[in-house]
Amino acid sequence: MRVRFAPSPTGALHIGGARTALFNWLLARHDGGQLVLRIEDTDRERSTAANIEQILDALRWLELDWDEGPILQTARSGRHQQALAALLDGGRAYRSSATADDVRAYKQEHGAERGFRGREEADGAVRLRVPDDGATVVHDAIRGDTSFEHVHLDDPVIARADGSVLYNFAVAIDDLDAEISHVVRGEDHLSNTPKQVLVLEAVRAVGFAPAGPLPLYAHLPLLHGPDGKKLSKRHGAASVQELRDAGYLPEAVRNYLALLGWGSDDDTVLSTEQLIERFTLERVSRNPARFDEVKLKWLNGQYIRKLSLDDLTARLEAFTGREQLEPAVHISQEKIHTLDDFLALAGALLDGPADDPKARERWLGADGLNALGEARTALAELTDFDQSAVEDALAAVIARRGAKPREVYQPLRVALTGSTVSPGIFESVALLGQRETLARIDRALAAG
Ligand code: GLU
Repeated sequence: MRVRFAPSPTGALHIGGARTALFNWLLARHDGGQLVLRIEDTDRERSTAANIEQILDALRWLELDWDEGPILQTARSGRHQQALAALLDGGRAYRSSATADDVRAYKQEHGAERGFRGREEADGAVRLRVPDDGATVVHDAIRGDTSFEHVHLDDPVIARADGSVLYNFAVAIDDLDAEISHVVRGEDHLSNTPKQVLVLEAVRAVGFAPAGPLPLYAHLPLLHGPDGKKLSKRHGAASVQELRDAGYLPEAVRNYLALLGWGSDDDTVLSTEQLIERFTLERVSRNPARFDEVKLKWLNGQYIRKLSLDDLTARLEAFTGREQLEPAVHISQEKIHTLDDFLALAGALLDGPADDPKARERWLGADGLNALGEARTALAELTDFDQSAVEDALAAVIARRGAKPREVYQPLRVALTGSTVSPGIFESVALLGQRETLARIDRALAAG
């Protein structure tokens, strides 16, 4: 099996493109085949070096490696020209100056359903001759066979009058030369497929390439947002870089993307090894798949909890650019869903209380301050300041006051962090240590 991922570097790699890359990668790895990376950079204005680098960077972050390439499509223009010349010489293509208006006029005369046939001229754009009879059958592993009657297909333009080739032509020649056995791509390319198949058959008919099987095609289902509409920016993170910056783990993203159109719901948490082992095209659905960031976040949380403390700490230190996070990571691991959640949860323990006036108002009124004062006394008396000693001391305060736990914990939390979010209260107090805890309480008492 030889598959390819062929992004057009016109911007960041989006979720749909990343899913296509992943499906190809899984197929190649499942089958012991090769993945070819081809950069379709024929749009010279948008295909900047920076855009190409962005795609490679996204693939590297996702840890999707390739076996051949990157092959730049523009570097293959000599080969495209040879194929074009072979088709012109062999009579399977012709020059025609027909314009869109000419095509319209033709259809008015012959009926809208009738494929356009041009007149051969000395110069003009190059059109492929579609055979008059028969049909082109596209075999799609997901959608089955679709037959396109030749009589309804226009002779497609394959090169402009200036000699530059068109997209569907370049793709077909590149797939042929790379000996691609499976073309797996988004559903939006479905309508290109008969044109590409016709090109492949024509270059073989004129002896430009040896006879051989056509690739098996597989068009992946569209991606929708949770509202059932086509996936777009308003559904949240749209590019791989945005997912990275939002604190998702590459292995969680791989797992989640794999479920977009493949697999079933019973087994959502699947390691990359399991995905490779199970991945086949037969289990890809034709129905649109839903990208739901809420689900991704949940899944990411599952992965975060499974990491070793060392590993999670290293990732968080890289993500935040800070050091010595291990103790705070230790008490946050069960509570965060993304790397980005970490500082939001535990940042105030590290950097000093935030200022949330609402939290102060709610929890540091007269009663709250009173409870806080009692907690201070109890915590000041401790000689051991570990988590369980803290817990016992605070439990005693709650019992003495006949209070609900939160009537003591929340004022304390607000005093220590300035807000009502933090890791577990005993863990947080123990992490701060006695001196810092008492100092923060004193500041809160003085401000109240
Ligand atoms: N370059 C195309 C894209 O980025 C993909 C072409 C293909 O896979 O055939 O959408």
